[in-house]
Amino acid sequence: MAARLQGLGTTIFAEMSALALRTSSINLGQGFPDTDGPTRMLDAAVDAIRSGDHNQYPPGIGIAALREAVSAHQRRFYDLEYDPDTEVLVTAGATEAIAAALLALVEPGDEVVALEPYYDSYAAGIAMAGGRRVPVTLRAPDFRLDVDALRAAVTSRTKLLLVNSPHNPTGTVLTADELAAIAELAVERDLLVVTDEVYEHLSYDGAPHIPLATYPGMRERTVTISSAGKTFAVTGWKIGWVCATPPLVAAVRTAKQFLTYVSGGPFQPAVAEALAFGDDYYDGLRASMQGKRDLLSEGLSSLGLDVFVPGGTYFVTTDVRPLGYDDGVEFCRMLPERCGVVAIPHEVFYDDKQAGRPLVRWAFCKRDEVLSEAVERLRSGL
Ligand code: PMP
Ligand code: GLN
Repeated sequence: MAARLQGLGTTIFAEMSALALRTSSINLGQGFPDTDGPTRMLDAAVDAIRSGDHNQYPPGIGIAALREAVSAHQRRFYDLEYDPDTEVLVTAGATEAIAAALLALVEPGDEVVALEPYYDSYAAGIAMAGGRRVPVTLRAPDFRLDVDALRAAVTSRTKLLLVNSPHNPTGTVLTADELAAIAELAVERDLLVVTDEVYEHLSYDGAPHIPLATYPGMRERTVTISSAGKTFAVTGWKIGWVCATPPLVAAVRTAKQFLTYVSGGPFQPAVAEALAFGDDYYDGLRASMQGKRDLLSEGLSSLGLDVFVPGGTYFVTTDVRPLGYDDGVEFCRMLPERCGVVAIPHEVFYDDKQAGRPLVRWAFCKRDEVLSEAVERLRSGL
Protein backbone atom coordinates (compact mmCIF):
# COMPACT_ATOMS: atom_id res chain seq x y z
CA MET A 1 0.00 0.00 0.00
CA ALA A 2 1.28 3.47 -0.86
CA ALA A 3 2.90 5.39 1.99
CA ARG A 4 0.28 8.13 1.87
CA LEU A 5 -2.42 5.57 2.78
CA GLN A 6 -0.49 4.07 5.68
CA GLY A 7 -2.38 4.35 8.91
CA LEU A 8 -5.77 5.05 7.34
CA GLY A 9 -6.91 1.48 8.07
CA THR A 10 -10.61 0.63 7.94
CA THR A 11 -13.12 3.38 8.57
CA ILE A 12 -14.58 3.17 12.06
CA PHE A 13 -18.09 3.21 10.56
CA ALA A 14 -17.58 -0.03 8.62
CA GLU A 15 -15.95 -1.64 11.66
CA MET A 16 -18.71 -0.68 14.08
CA SER A 17 -21.58 -1.51 11.70
CA ALA A 18 -20.08 -4.97 11.12
CA LEU A 19 -19.84 -5.39 14.90
CA ALA A 20 -23.47 -4.35 15.29
CA LEU A 21 -24.54 -6.98 12.74
CA ARG A 22 -22.37 -9.69 14.28
CA THR A 23 -23.75 -9.07 17.77
CA SER A 24 -27.34 -8.20 16.70
CA SER A 25 -26.90 -4.89 18.46
CA ILE A 26 -28.84 -1.68 18.05
CA ASN A 27 -26.57 0.40 15.84
CA LEU A 28 -26.23 3.92 17.23
CA GLY A 29 -22.77 4.03 15.68
CA GLN A 30 -22.81 4.77 11.95
CA GLY A 31 -25.12 7.69 11.27
CA PHE A 32 -27.96 6.54 9.04
CA PRO A 33 -31.72 6.76 9.56
CA ASP A 34 -33.77 3.60 10.09
CA THR A 35 -36.77 4.92 8.18
CA ASP A 36 -36.98 5.76 4.51
CA GLY A 37 -36.94 9.19 2.98
CA PRO A 38 -40.16 10.89 1.75
CA THR A 39 -42.35 8.66 -0.43
CA ARG A 40 -42.74 11.32 -3.13
CA MET A 41 -38.99 11.31 -3.61
CA LEU A 42 -38.72 7.51 -3.62
CA ASP A 43 -41.53 7.34 -6.21
CA ALA A 44 -39.71 9.91 -8.35
CA ALA A 45 -36.60 7.68 -8.37
CA VAL A 46 -38.67 4.62 -9.35
CA ASP A 47 -40.39 6.63 -12.10
CA ALA A 48 -36.98 7.81 -13.32
CA ILE A 49 -35.76 4.20 -13.58
CA ARG A 50 -38.92 3.05 -15.32
CA SER A 51 -38.92 5.97 -17.76
CA GLY A 52 -35.72 4.66 -19.29
CA ASP A 53 -34.40 8.22 -19.53
CA HIS A 54 -32.02 8.13 -16.58
CA ASN A 55 -30.26 4.79 -16.67
CA GLN A 56 -27.24 5.79 -18.75
CA TYR A 57 -24.43 8.20 -17.88
CA PRO A 58 -25.85 11.54 -16.80
CA PRO A 59 -23.90 14.65 -17.86
CA GLY A 60 -20.54 14.91 -16.08
CA ILE A 61 -21.61 17.93 -14.03
CA GLY A 62 -24.98 16.42 -13.10
CA ILE A 63 -28.40 16.72 -14.77
CA ALA A 64 -29.65 20.25 -15.35
CA ALA A 65 -32.75 19.74 -13.18
CA LEU A 66 -30.63 18.89 -10.15
CA ARG A 67 -28.11 21.70 -10.69
CA GLU A 68 -31.02 24.12 -11.03
CA ALA A 69 -32.63 22.73 -7.89
CA VAL A 70 -29.39 23.12 -5.90
CA SER A 71 -29.05 26.68 -7.17
CA ALA A 72 -32.69 27.44 -6.21
CA HIS A 73 -32.13 25.87 -2.76
CA GLN A 74 -29.12 28.13 -2.07
CA ARG A 75 -31.15 31.18 -3.13
CA ARG A 76 -34.25 30.19 -1.15
CA PHE A 77 -32.54 29.40 2.14
CA TYR A 78 -29.46 31.64 2.09
CA ASP A 79 -29.90 34.30 -0.57
CA LEU A 80 -26.81 32.94 -2.34
CA GLU A 81 -26.74 33.02 -6.14
CA TYR A 82 -24.98 30.21 -8.03
CA ASP A 83 -25.18 29.76 -11.78
CA PRO A 84 -26.44 26.18 -12.28
CA ASP A 85 -24.31 25.77 -15.42
CA THR A 86 -20.94 26.94 -14.13
CA GLU A 87 -21.14 27.11 -10.33
CA VAL A 88 -22.81 23.83 -9.30
CA LEU A 89 -21.36 20.32 -9.60
CA VAL A 90 -23.12 17.07 -8.67
CA THR A 91 -20.91 14.50 -6.93
CA ALA A 92 -21.08 10.96 -5.54
CA GLY A 93 -22.10 12.13 -2.08
CA ALA A 94 -20.35 14.75 -0.01
CA THR A 95 -17.51 12.27 0.46
CA GLU A 96 -16.47 12.50 -3.17
CA ALA A 97 -16.93 16.26 -3.14
CA ILE A 98 -14.56 16.56 -0.17
CA ALA A 99 -11.95 14.24 -1.70
CA ALA A 100 -12.18 15.89 -5.13
CA ALA A 101 -11.93 19.39 -3.60
CA LEU A 102 -8.82 18.41 -1.65
CA LEU A 103 -7.23 16.68 -4.66
CA ALA A 104 -8.06 19.71 -6.79
CA LEU A 105 -6.81 22.44 -4.48
CA VAL A 106 -4.04 21.06 -2.27
CA GLU A 107 -0.44 20.76 -3.46
CA PRO A 108 1.78 18.12 -1.83
CA GLY A 109 3.13 19.64 1.38
CA ASP A 110 0.38 22.25 1.73
CA GLU A 111 -1.19 22.55 5.15
CA VAL A 112 -4.91 22.08 5.62
CA VAL A 113 -6.35 23.43 8.86
CA ALA A 114 -9.33 21.37 10.02
CA LEU A 115 -11.47 21.40 13.14
CA GLU A 116 -10.92 18.30 15.26
CA PRO A 117 -12.53 15.98 16.07
CA TYR A 118 -12.88 15.66 12.28
CA TYR A 119 -15.06 13.45 10.14
CA ASP A 120 -12.75 10.60 9.20
CA SER A 121 -12.76 11.11 5.43
CA TYR A 122 -11.07 14.51 5.95
CA ALA A 123 -7.88 12.88 7.18
CA ALA A 124 -7.95 10.41 4.31
CA GLY A 125 -8.70 13.09 1.70
CA ILE A 126 -5.89 15.32 2.94
CA ALA A 127 -3.49 12.35 2.97
CA MET A 128 -4.47 11.29 -0.56
CA ALA A 129 -3.83 14.85 -1.76
CA GLY A 130 -0.40 14.77 -0.13
CA GLY A 131 -1.32 17.59 2.24
CA ARG A 132 -0.56 17.99 5.92
CA ARG A 133 -3.40 18.08 8.42
CA VAL A 134 -3.24 20.79 11.09
CA PRO A 135 -6.00 20.31 13.64
CA VAL A 136 -7.70 22.94 15.76
CA THR A 137 -9.37 21.17 18.66
CA LEU A 138 -12.96 21.75 19.78
CA ARG A 139 -12.87 20.82 23.45
CA ALA A 140 -15.46 19.50 25.88
CA PRO A 141 -17.65 20.59 27.55
CA ASP A 142 -18.94 23.12 25.02
CA PHE A 143 -16.88 22.30 21.89
CA ARG A 144 -16.72 25.97 20.86
CA LEU A 145 -14.20 27.24 18.33
CA ASP A 146 -11.07 28.73 19.91
CA VAL A 147 -10.45 31.56 17.46
CA ASP A 148 -6.95 32.24 18.83
CA ALA A 149 -6.01 28.60 18.31
CA LEU A 150 -7.36 28.79 14.77
CA ARG A 151 -5.29 31.91 14.06
CA ALA A 152 -2.21 30.27 15.55
CA ALA A 153 -2.69 27.18 13.33
CA VAL A 154 -2.42 29.21 10.12
CA THR A 155 1.11 29.50 8.72
CA SER A 156 2.63 30.60 5.43
CA ARG A 157 2.13 27.01 4.21
CA THR A 158 -1.62 26.94 4.91
CA LYS A 159 -3.61 26.46 1.73
CA LEU A 160 -7.10 26.01 2.98
CA LEU A 161 -9.42 25.80 5.94
CA LEU A 162 -11.68 22.75 6.07
CA VAL A 163 -14.76 23.66 8.10
CA ASN A 164 -17.81 21.63 9.10
CA SER A 165 -20.93 23.08 10.67
CA PRO A 166 -23.18 21.64 12.01
CA HIS A 167 -20.19 19.62 13.16
CA ASN A 168 -19.82 15.86 13.19
CA PRO A 169 -19.18 14.37 15.76
CA THR A 170 -19.64 17.12 18.41
CA GLY A 171 -22.93 18.59 17.14
CA THR A 172 -21.53 22.11 17.42
CA VAL A 173 -23.28 24.68 15.26
CA LEU A 174 -20.81 27.51 14.69
CA THR A 175 -22.24 30.86 15.75
CA ALA A 176 -22.40 33.93 13.51
CA ASP A 177 -19.42 35.35 15.43
CA GLU A 178 -17.34 32.19 15.05
CA LEU A 179 -18.11 32.05 11.34
CA ALA A 180 -17.26 35.75 10.99
CA ALA A 181 -13.90 35.10 12.67
CA ILE A 182 -13.17 32.26 10.24
CA ALA A 183 -14.16 34.45 7.30
CA GLU A 184 -12.02 37.34 8.50
CA LEU A 185 -9.00 35.09 8.86
CA ALA A 186 -9.53 33.50 5.44
CA VAL A 187 -9.70 36.91 3.77
CA GLU A 188 -6.77 38.32 5.75
CA ARG A 189 -4.51 35.33 4.93
CA ASP A 190 -5.95 34.78 1.46
CA LEU A 191 -7.01 31.19 2.17
CA LEU A 192 -9.42 28.93 0.35
CA VAL A 193 -12.20 27.43 2.45
CA VAL A 194 -13.92 24.09 1.96
CA THR A 195 -17.07 23.94 4.05
CA ASP A 196 -18.98 20.72 4.67
CA GLU A 197 -22.60 21.63 5.35
CA VAL A 198 -24.27 18.22 5.01
CA TYR A 199 -26.22 18.82 8.26
CA GLU A 200 -27.44 22.25 7.07
CA HIS A 201 -31.10 21.40 7.82
CA LEU A 202 -30.35 19.80 11.18
CA SER A 203 -29.73 22.69 13.56
CA TYR A 204 -31.92 22.95 16.65
CA ASP A 205 -33.46 25.33 19.19
CA GLY A 206 -34.03 27.96 16.51
CA ALA A 207 -30.32 28.35 15.68
CA PRO A 208 -29.97 29.21 12.01
CA HIS A 209 -27.55 27.50 9.65
CA ILE A 210 -25.35 30.21 8.17
CA PRO A 211 -23.21 29.21 5.19
CA LEU A 212 -19.66 30.58 5.29
CA ALA A 213 -20.10 31.74 1.70
CA THR A 214 -22.52 34.44 2.90
CA TYR A 215 -19.75 36.39 4.69
CA PRO A 216 -17.97 39.31 2.99
CA GLY A 217 -15.16 38.19 0.73
CA MET A 218 -16.08 34.52 1.13
CA ARG A 219 -18.18 33.57 -1.87
CA GLU A 220 -15.16 33.78 -4.17
CA ARG A 221 -12.91 31.65 -1.96
CA THR A 222 -15.36 29.05 -0.63
CA VAL A 223 -16.26 25.59 -1.86
CA THR A 224 -19.59 24.72 -0.23
CA ILE A 225 -20.47 21.03 -0.02
CA SER A 226 -23.72 19.31 0.87
CA SER A 227 -25.62 16.16 0.05
CA ALA A 228 -29.06 14.54 -0.04
CA GLY A 229 -28.14 11.79 2.42
CA LYS A 230 -29.01 13.58 5.67
CA THR A 231 -31.68 15.98 4.44
CA PHE A 232 -33.75 13.29 2.73
CA ALA A 233 -32.79 10.19 4.72
CA VAL A 234 -31.14 8.41 1.79
CA THR A 235 -27.52 7.97 2.82
CA GLY A 236 -27.17 5.09 0.33
CA TRP A 237 -28.03 7.22 -2.69
CA LYS A 238 -24.77 9.16 -2.50
CA ILE A 239 -25.92 12.29 -4.29
CA GLY A 240 -23.90 15.31 -3.21
CA TRP A 241 -23.02 18.68 -4.66
CA VAL A 242 -20.54 21.51 -4.69
CA CYS A 243 -21.31 25.24 -5.05
CA ALA A 244 -18.42 27.58 -5.82
CA THR A 245 -17.11 30.05 -8.41
CA PRO A 246 -16.52 28.77 -11.96
CA PRO A 247 -12.73 28.31 -11.55
CA LEU A 248 -13.15 26.44 -8.25
CA VAL A 249 -15.92 24.24 -9.67
CA ALA A 250 -13.76 23.57 -12.75
CA ALA A 251 -10.89 22.48 -10.50
CA VAL A 252 -13.08 20.14 -8.43
CA ARG A 253 -14.71 18.79 -11.59
CA THR A 254 -11.31 17.97 -13.05
CA ALA A 255 -10.59 15.67 -10.10
CA LYS A 256 -14.16 14.35 -9.86
CA GLN A 257 -14.38 13.27 -13.49
CA PHE A 258 -11.52 10.82 -13.00
CA LEU A 259 -12.75 9.50 -9.67
CA THR A 260 -16.28 8.46 -10.64
CA TYR A 261 -17.06 10.58 -13.70
CA VAL A 262 -20.79 10.43 -12.77
CA SER A 263 -23.14 8.53 -10.48
CA GLY A 264 -26.71 7.99 -9.36
CA GLY A 265 -28.51 8.64 -12.69
CA PRO A 266 -32.10 7.95 -11.54
CA PHE A 267 -31.53 9.46 -8.10
CA GLN A 268 -30.62 12.83 -9.53
CA PRO A 269 -34.12 13.82 -10.76
CA ALA A 270 -35.63 12.52 -7.51
CA VAL A 271 -33.33 14.67 -5.38
CA ALA A 272 -34.08 17.64 -7.65
CA GLU A 273 -37.77 17.21 -6.80
CA ALA A 274 -37.07 16.79 -3.11
CA LEU A 275 -34.98 19.95 -2.83
CA ALA A 276 -38.07 21.89 -3.90
CA PHE A 277 -40.27 20.44 -1.11
CA GLY A 278 -42.14 23.06 0.91
CA ASP A 279 -41.02 24.44 4.25
CA ASP A 280 -43.26 21.89 5.97
CA TYR A 281 -40.85 19.14 4.94
CA TYR A 282 -37.73 20.92 6.18
CA ASP A 283 -39.42 22.15 9.39
CA GLY A 284 -40.81 18.68 10.05
CA LEU A 285 -37.40 17.05 9.64
CA ARG A 286 -35.79 19.49 12.06
CA ALA A 287 -38.59 19.14 14.65
CA SER A 288 -38.54 15.37 14.45
CA MET A 289 -34.76 15.15 14.88
CA GLN A 290 -34.81 17.66 17.72
CA GLY A 291 -37.34 15.43 19.51
CA LYS A 292 -35.06 12.42 19.01
CA ARG A 293 -32.09 14.41 20.26
CA ASP A 294 -34.00 15.17 23.45
CA LEU A 295 -35.22 11.60 23.86
CA LEU A 296 -31.74 10.07 23.60
CA SER A 297 -30.00 12.85 25.53
CA GLU A 298 -32.41 12.47 28.45
CA GLY A 299 -32.10 8.68 28.33
CA LEU A 300 -28.29 8.73 28.36
CA SER A 301 -28.29 11.34 31.08
CA SER A 302 -30.60 9.18 33.21
CA LEU A 303 -27.91 6.47 33.08
CA GLY A 304 -25.41 8.80 34.71
CA LEU A 305 -23.41 9.70 31.61
CA ASP A 306 -22.32 13.31 31.12
CA VAL A 307 -24.28 14.40 28.05
CA PHE A 308 -23.28 17.27 25.74
CA VAL A 309 -26.58 18.15 24.10
CA PRO A 310 -25.80 18.98 20.46
CA GLY A 311 -26.98 22.13 18.68
CA GLY A 312 -27.12 20.25 15.37
CA THR A 313 -26.44 16.99 13.42
CA TYR A 314 -27.92 13.69 14.51
CA PHE A 315 -25.24 12.78 17.03
CA VAL A 316 -25.00 13.26 20.77
CA THR A 317 -21.68 13.07 22.62
CA THR A 318 -21.21 11.75 26.15
CA ASP A 319 -18.33 11.54 28.60
CA VAL A 320 -18.17 8.00 30.00
CA ARG A 321 -16.06 8.79 33.06
CA PRO A 322 -19.01 9.17 35.48
CA LEU A 323 -19.67 5.45 34.89
CA GLY A 324 -16.13 4.55 35.87
CA TYR A 325 -14.61 4.20 32.38
CA ASP A 326 -11.84 6.48 31.17
CA ASP A 327 -11.41 5.18 27.65
CA GLY A 328 -14.17 5.50 25.04
CA VAL A 329 -12.57 2.89 22.77
CA GLU A 330 -12.68 0.27 25.51
CA PHE A 331 -16.21 1.34 26.42
CA CYS A 332 -17.40 0.93 22.82
CA ARG A 333 -15.70 -2.48 22.49
CA MET A 334 -17.42 -3.73 25.64
CA LEU A 335 -20.84 -2.26 24.82
CA PRO A 336 -22.18 -4.67 22.13
CA GLU A 337 -21.50 -7.85 24.11
CA ARG A 338 -22.64 -6.40 27.39
CA CYS A 339 -25.65 -4.32 26.28
CA GLY A 340 -26.39 -5.04 22.61
CA VAL A 341 -25.77 -1.43 21.60
CA VAL A 342 -23.10 0.04 19.33
CA ALA A 343 -21.67 3.56 19.62
CA ILE A 344 -18.56 5.29 18.23
CA PRO A 345 -15.53 6.38 20.28
CA HIS A 346 -14.54 10.00 19.61
CA GLU A 347 -10.84 9.22 19.87
CA VAL A 348 -10.65 8.03 16.26
CA PHE A 349 -11.55 11.56 15.10
CA TYR A 350 -8.61 13.26 16.85
CA ASP A 351 -4.89 13.77 16.47
CA ASP A 352 -4.93 14.89 20.10
CA LYS A 353 -6.10 11.46 21.32
CA GLN A 354 -6.19 12.65 24.92
CA ALA A 355 -8.90 15.22 24.13
CA GLY A 356 -11.20 12.53 22.71
CA ARG A 357 -10.36 9.60 24.98
CA PRO A 358 -13.36 9.62 27.36
CA LEU A 359 -15.91 10.67 24.74
CA VAL A 360 -18.44 8.52 22.91
CA ARG A 361 -20.83 9.48 20.07
CA TRP A 362 -24.37 8.12 19.75
CA ALA A 363 -26.58 8.54 16.63
CA PHE A 364 -30.21 9.47 17.30
CA CYS A 365 -31.55 9.29 13.70
CA LYS A 366 -33.56 6.21 14.67
CA ARG A 367 -37.20 5.45 15.46
CA ASP A 368 -38.21 6.58 18.96
CA GLU A 369 -38.90 3.02 20.06
CA VAL A 370 -35.41 1.97 18.97
CA LEU A 371 -33.85 4.83 20.96
CA SER A 372 -35.92 3.89 24.02
CA GLU A 373 -35.00 0.22 23.66
CA ALA A 374 -31.31 1.14 23.39
CA VAL A 375 -31.50 3.16 26.61
CA GLU A 376 -33.25 0.27 28.40
CA ARG A 377 -30.60 -2.18 27.19
CA LEU A 378 -27.92 0.17 28.48
CA ARG A 379 -29.72 0.53 31.80
CA SER A 380 -29.81 -3.24 32.29
CA GLY A 381 -26.26 -3.92 31.07
CA LEU A 382 -24.13 -1.10 32.42
N1 PMP B 1 -19.48 15.00 5.94
C1 PMP B 1 -19.94 14.72 7.16
C2 PMP B 1 -19.67 15.67 8.27
C3 PMP B 1 -20.67 13.56 7.37
O1 PMP B 1 -21.11 13.26 8.58
C4 PMP B 1 -20.90 12.69 6.29
C5 PMP B 1 -21.61 11.39 6.41
N2 PMP B 1 -22.46 11.13 7.08
C6 PMP B 1 -20.41 13.03 5.04
C7 PMP B 1 -19.70 14.18 4.90
C8 PMP B 1 -20.58 12.13 3.86
O2 PMP B 1 -21.73 12.41 3.18
P1 PMP B 1 -22.17 11.48 1.94
O3 PMP B 1 -22.80 10.28 2.54
O4 PMP B 1 -23.11 12.34 1.19
O5 PMP B 1 -20.96 11.13 1.18
N1 GLN C 1 -21.30 10.16 8.24
C1 GLN C 1 -21.75 9.00 8.90
C2 GLN C 1 -21.36 9.08 10.36
O1 GLN C 1 -20.66 9.98 10.76
C3 GLN C 1 -21.15 7.72 8.36
C4 GLN C 1 -20.64 7.75 6.99
C5 GLN C 1 -19.84 6.54 6.66
O2 GLN C 1 -20.17 5.46 7.04
N2 GLN C 1 -18.77 6.75 5.98
O3 GLN C 1 -21.76 8.23 11.08
